[in-house]
Amino acid sequence: MEQIPPGNGKKILGGRVVMDNEVTGRVRDFETEKLEKEEEKALGAYPETAQVLINWTHAIDWQVVTDLFIEYAVRSGVSLERFNAPERIYFLSELKGIMDYRALTNSVQVNVAEFDAQFRAKGGGSSKDWIRFIRTIFHEWTHGTGVVSIGLDRHVIDKVDCVSTYWRYGFEQGAAANWVMRSDGGPDSHTRSLFRLLNEGITEQISHEVLWEYVQRYPNVNRGAVADTLVEDIARDADNYDAARYLVMALADAMARYAGISTEIVWRGFVREYFSGELSLREIRDLFSDLFGNDFSERVAAADSAQELRKLASSLPHITRTDLVEKWLEHLDESHGAK
Ligand SMILES: [Zn+2]
Repeated sequence: MEQIPPGNGKKILGGRVVMDNEVTGRVRDFETEKLEKEEEKALGAYPETAQVLINWTHAIDWQVVTDLFIEYAVRSGVSLERFNAPERIYFLSELKGIMDYRALTNSVQVNVAEFDAQFRAKGGGSSKDWIRFIRTIFHEWTHGTGVVSIGLDRHVIDKVDCVSTYWRYGFEQGAAANWVMRSDGGPDSHTRSLFRLLNEGITEQISHEVLWEYVQRYPNVNRGAVADTLVEDIARDADNYDAARYLVMALADAMARYAGISTEIVWRGFVREYFSGELSLREIRDLFSDLFGNDFSERVAAADSAQELRKLASSLPHITRTDLVEKWLEHLDESHGAK
């Protein structure tokens, strides 16, 4: 995968940036090797379930998926210089959650053990299982196509050897410091991540739209069943991600009413930022602060529960400071042609 060292003056929009240094390279090689070993183990432990998941993966036309993501971004007025798509899918038996996307290895991980348990409970590989699979893999794929960057570096702090990590996934930006060689021998980690759940809400919305487009174009999938599931998903309010989607909708609506433009145009602005990374973290925070106040912006950035997201969505005020919206409109200007 193409690597461009950051800080070369020009801001490059879109794609995946990996910090080009020795620590990042070494950790990536280590992680890749670990993923390959873990995959071998999972394929050995769950051969039948793994085969079903591999067949499902092969049945997806990834070229069509990539084309759809590019079209989707372009329709939102994103002028991307680079576009990334995940380049590998690993099937693992030990994974937090059902799937994830990792920027460092540019890969999607699928939890075979989790699907195996699901297959056993319900008689294995039903169309509901398949829909859950394709829904989730589109979600993770969306993360990989949004703007992503990652870097690791080594520091000595108080004579302690540390590795720090920073990352960006769409709207989310985070950093972590790991004390890898503490005097008491224990690992320690300080992680801070901003706009994580807002980013999940936007990811869900985008993946819904692209999956819907995919099933329209690809008639050999069960369109009706996917449509039913998507409608169910959109109406659902069960977990953090559902609450995050609701906040995204409420935000887009509040901004649109305030600016006197359609919600669609505001939404396309979100999409544009998701794929391009045009605004910095500070600019995103300032934008929300200007429109909804400092406290609101900080709370959205830090939100880590469905309850908090719901509170934020229902607290959206009537906005009166028209001049501040100009900023947002300026940013949205290019997405006016969006369909
Ligand atoms: Zn996600």
